Order: sequence, then C-alpha cells, then structure tokens
Amino acid sequence: MDTKHIALTYGVDASSLDNVLSADSGPTDAAALIAAASEGSGEIVAIAKKIVSEAKRKHGGDAELAFPETAYGLPLLYGWKGITNITVDGAASFLNGLNAAGAATIDDGLAAGENAMYAAEIIEAVRYLDRRPDGEEGFIPDRIIRELGLPFVDETIPGAVVFLGRTGNGPELRKMVRNCQSKGMVSLASGDCLGQMRENGIALGWSRMFYPLGNFTATVHALNFAARAAYSFGSVGEGERERLSAYLKKRPKIVVIHMGPLTKLDAAFAFAALLHSAVVITDRDVPNISGALRTCKEHLDMLQVGIEERGITVKLEPIDLPVAYGPAFEGETVRRPNTYVEAGGTKSESFELLVKRDERSVEDGKVTVIGKDIDGFAKGDTIPLGMLVHVYGKDVQSDLEPVIERNIHHFLNYAEGVWHAGQRDSNWIRISDAAKESGFRLEHLGKILIHKIKEAFGKVVTRIQVTIVTDPAEVSERHKDALEVYKARDERIRGLTDDSVDVFYTCTMCQSFAPDHVCIVAPERLGLCGAINWLDAKASNELSPNGPNAPVAKGSVLSAAKGEWAGTNDIVRAQSHGNVERMCMYSLMDSPMTSCGCFEVIVAMTVDMQAVVLVDRDHTGMTPVGMKFSTLAGSIGGGRQTPGFMGIGRKYITSDKFIAAEGGIARIAWMPKRLKEAFADDIKKIAANIGIPDLYEKIADETVTEDAEGLIAWMSEKEHPALSMPPLIE
Ligand code: SF4
Ligand code: ZN
Repeated sequence: MDTKHIALTYGVDASSLDNVLSADSGPTDAAALIAAASEGSGEIVAIAKKIVSEAKRKHGGDAELAFPETAYGLPLLYGWKGITNITVDGAASFLNGLNAAGAATIDDGLAAGENAMYAAEIIEAVRYLDRRPDGEEGFIPDRIIRELGLPFVDETIPGAVVFLGRTGNGPELRKMVRNCQSKGMVSLASGDCLGQMRENGIALGWSRMFYPLGNFTATVHALNFAARAAYSFGSVGEGERERLSAYLKKRPKIVVIHMGPLTKLDAAFAFAALLHSAVVITDRDVPNISGALRTCKEHLDMLQVGIEERGITVKLEPIDLPVAYGPAFEGETVRRPNTYVEAGGTKSESFELLVKRDERSVEDGKVTVIGKDIDGFAKGDTIPLGMLVHVYGKDVQSDLEPVIERNIHHFLNYAEGVWHAGQRDSNWIRISDAAKESGFRLEHLGKILIHKIKEAFGKVVTRIQVTIVTDPAEVSERHKDALEVYKARDERIRGLTDDSVDVFYTCTMCQSFAPDHVCIVAPERLGLCGAINWLDAKASNELSPNGPNAPVAKGSVLSAAKGEWAGTNDIVRAQSHGNVERMCMYSLMDSPMTSCGCFEVIVAMTVDMQAVVLVDRDHTGMTPVGMKFSTLAGSIGGGRQTPGFMGIGRKYITSDKFIAAEGGIARIAWMPKRLKEAFADDIKKIAANIGIPDLYEKIADETVTEDAEGLIAWMSEKEHPALSMPPLIE
C-alpha cells in the first residue's frame, strides 16, 4: 500500500502510518493475531484523534459528522452505540472515552475490532468534511442499498464479498470477480486490490453491484453497508446492539477475502468483520476458527470456501456462456458506439413470444437459429429478430404464458454485454462488441432463456425450446402469428374486471421491509410496484401456494363504489397485524390502500382539496403540492394508510377503478409531462367515454406550473372538471 499517498489523502503524517500499515510475515497463531489487532486498533484510534483535532481547527468543533445520502449519520455509531448525530467535538470526546483493548482473549480482539471500526468511521467522515471522494468511491448511499431490494432480502442475491489486500495475478483476480458475479453476489473492494482491479480493466460501479470503497480506513464502508441492510430491511433501530447482532447472523451474509500481507489494521478490521458475522478467508497462515476465520492458499478456491463457511446458498445455477452472467449486469447499458448489432427499438422488425405447445412439438433444450448469426452481420447493423420460446408442462395454463414471457427482459439483461428493453414486438436488444468478441452468439440467448425459465418455473414448465430468427421473410411471417397471440391476450385481459372474478390476491412480498403492508391485487388494480398484476399473482400462487400471493375471497360487498368487501378487510386486518382496520380499493380518501415504498406513482390531494396531482419516480422536480417525489415518498411509505396520499402502479391510472370513489380520472389536475404523454391515448379515450373529451388539455404539467397558486389559476382558467365536484374533504 502506498503510505505516502494515504498520508496525503487523509492529511496525516506518513510516519504515523508506518506501524499500523506494516505487514510482517503475518501472525501465525491466535495470540499473535489478537496482539496485532489490538496494536493496530490502538494506533488507528490515535490517528483518528489527530485527524479530528485537525478537523476542529479547520471546520470548528460544531461541524457535524455524517455521511452523505444516509438516514443514519455514522451508521456504525448509530446501530452499535445508539449515537444518531455527532459533531467534531463529540467525536473527540467519544474517541477519548474508548477503553484500550486488551491483547489476550478473542473478546479482546473483538473489542479491538470495534474500537478500530469507530475510529475508521470517524476518519472517513472527516474526509467528507474536507472533500468528497471522487465519483462512486467511498460511502455507499442508502438508496443504492435499497435498490438491491427484494432480491437482497429473499437472498436471490445470496450475500456480499469484500475484497481486501492484493494478489500478484491480474487474470486470477478477474476470474475471482467474475465468479462472484455469476453467483449473484454483491462485491466490494478496498485497498490495493481496488487499484489492481482498475488496472485489469474490471468494471466497477454502483449500477454493477460492485462497490469500490477506497483505501486505508475506507474498508469500514463494507461494515456500515452490512449494518444498514439491517436498519433498512430489518428495521433494527439505533443502539439496538443485540437485535443488530442477531440480524447480522442471518443476513446479509458476508465473506471477506483477504490476500497478501496482513497489516495490523487488517487484523483489527478482521475482528470488526467477525462482529458483523462475516467470515474471513485469507491466504495467510491463521488459526482456523469454524464459521469465522479460515486459511485458503488457492485464491480461486477462496470464494467457495467462504460460501461454505458462511452457510450461503447460491440460488443461481451457473450457465455455460462466453460472457459473465448475473444480476450485477442488469443495470448495465450497452451504448450505441459499443454495440455490435441491435434489433427492434422501432428500427427493425423484432418481437418475442412465449407460448405453450403440445408435448410432442417441444424438444427440451433445443435452440435453433434461422438466418444469419451475429458474426454474419457487420458492426453497427440493425437486424430483424424473432425470439420464439415454446414451452410444455402438463399444468401450464395459457394465463402463465405472458407471465413467463415478461421475464425474458431481465433474464437477457443479466448477461454481460446484452441489453434488453421493452416487450412483445416493441422490444429492443443490443449486443456489445465485447460480447461478440468473446464468442457470444444468438444461440446463447436461447441457452439463457432455457436455463432461467427452468430455474424459475421448473415446477410447471418441463420442456422448453427456443427458435431465434433473423431471416427477414421468416421474421415477418412469424411476427404475424405473434400479433394474433398478443391480440387474443389483450382481449382476455380487457374482459377481466374486478366484478368478473371471485378472488383477488394478496401480495405480501414487501413485508420484509414494510411489515404491515399488503397489496390487494385485482384485475383492475395492479400492485403498486407495477410488477404484479392479477394474472401474475394468480400464476405465482399456482407455482407456490404458500408464497406471497394468496387468493382472497371478496365476501360480502360493503361498498361497491369504494371497493370495500368483508373478505378484503379481513385479510388486510390480519396481514397488517391489526394495524389497518379497513381498506377501500377505489378510494383515496377513505381508508386507502397502504403504501410500502416501491410505488411507481404517487397520487396526492391538491392544496385546495379539489383535485389530485400525480407524480412518478422519474420526475425529480417540484410538484404543486409543495413536495417532490422523494419527500412525498418518505412521508407516505412504510406500510401506512395516509388518506389523501397513495402510492400506485402506473397502469392503475387508466383503470376504470382509478380513485373511482372520488370521481376517477376527472380529478387529475397535474402530471409530469413525460408521464402524461406516455398515457395520452388512454387518457383521451377514457375522457371521451366519460363525457369530458378535452380533459387531457386541462391537465397541467411542469411546463405550466410547479406551485399551488399556479395550478389553482390554471384550473379556473381552463374550467377544470374537478372544480365542479365536491371537495375531497368536506
Ligand atoms: Fe407485492 Fe405490492 Fe410489494 Fe409489489 S409493491 S412486490 S405487489 S407487496
Ligand atoms: Zn413494496
């Protein structure tokens, strides 16, 4: 490690770092390891004191120490110590109050680790007072952790790997990283190996689930990452040491991979990692402690050893592909200059279709390519593309076809160098130069789909065959058939109304972080995340009867207009643990549905209580209710019922049941321009049907006004229909 560089970045004397960063041949027994940790811890606390007193001189004792974009100030102090805010002076007295750790027992080691992590957190926080580290390096904001979302909670992302130290071998390191990604693990790297990863062209970044932490004490960000998962997904509160510790034993499951010389600081961090129930796998000779510390000399085996030691179950089966594959690549975009070929996106004829066929016409595992493959095209070509997936399973019902088909999107996006957007015949696919260079061909698209559909739907789908077509005439021919199928599906969905079915479905998927929240999913109102409609919930219930989507018999009607039934009330009461008494499916004002945090759009009552404003996640500007999406989201989320405010899925906007109790779509006075335009056709159609043909023109957007007065003026000027309705609160 470059001591001089660290001394410069952290504003300390290089000589004061010599000992804490010194790496001898490495401790060989438990006593030596504890002694190293204890010494390292004492020194890092001393360094922290110096840094804090320098900070006092520069920024004053009252300057607040907190990381950016987090609700938890300094997260380790928050959870382990119950300190919710701390100033520079506060940090100084906190550090002075720390008892030096002993150097004899494992408990001494843990105490040393704990002191070291507080000191490190304070040192890192001072850096944010001085200057924010570059780009995505350093502290990982809460939102990035939240974005990991459900896959993280249900352990589709099975855990996190922290890379520390260094290996002399670049290609080896690359293999290790790829291995983590193909298992769906989140990766974090700090210290020398971070630099090595960059040198070896390993792509890092928040959108790739690969977080670069930085040097020196920045390793502590791996710990506060784990702790914040417990706060935001496990609702562990400040100072709840025991609950935090218990939660961390379950998840997130962390493997620390340490290579090369072990410094005293590393030794202290190793104990802090143990406090967070991580396992540490190192290539140094250390005492083996089951479930905590292991030596593994073969770098390429370290991950596997760690997975076994930490009891991690990897849900992703490896697929044999020339490119890496895993959720880490879902957020990856393939830009035009790096695109070898692309299909769809209105530039060429392209579609995807999944249908059930009879037993004999589906040959399991078969992939056929009709027409030229990728290497038959030139760089930059826009190609016609048809992707046909034929499935068979004796219990596969046709309702399941579109549900599985919609998964094509993320199944393909998981491949490095493959980008997919849209669906049906409005899809858009890009394959990168690098993927083509690595040997990726169209056949691999088929392989991915077969593998992943089996993995996710194997209970009912027993045979899968994929045909990929690039021959233009053949694409057109098969596209015609696909259009027939889409049309039939749409008609079936149109015919589905809340009144035409006997059961709705619950979705309790979000209870892991909003424990009282339940979505009731009906044909005319999809889940507020937009990802679960009635057909999805039905299919999911067929696939796993004890899963999050249970059927709800509506029972007796209490109010048809508000969408209130005895059966839905019962289930909402039970699922909210008695916290929600009643729920009206079609009302914003009277016992609306609860909101977890995943809503695509927020419906909010206007200041004059005559109308509603809609705002979606993509709109970052102000709204006429005086709050931005993020502020609104913060005040209505968490599984609460907030009359006048409600999170919804986008598609519910154009449902006949959209806040029907309050007059429906005619109440909408303002929407972000982009959202409004996306729904233009549907809004116009519905408006015509309800006898307000010019409603669309009466809905304001941010180009008209962003404040309450402006909206009121606009509404009266345009004679907005909501003005002649009774106020929302009487
Ligand atoms: Fe299920 Fe609702 Fe959460 Fe979507 S928002 S996953 S429908 S509980
Ligand atoms: Zn949710």
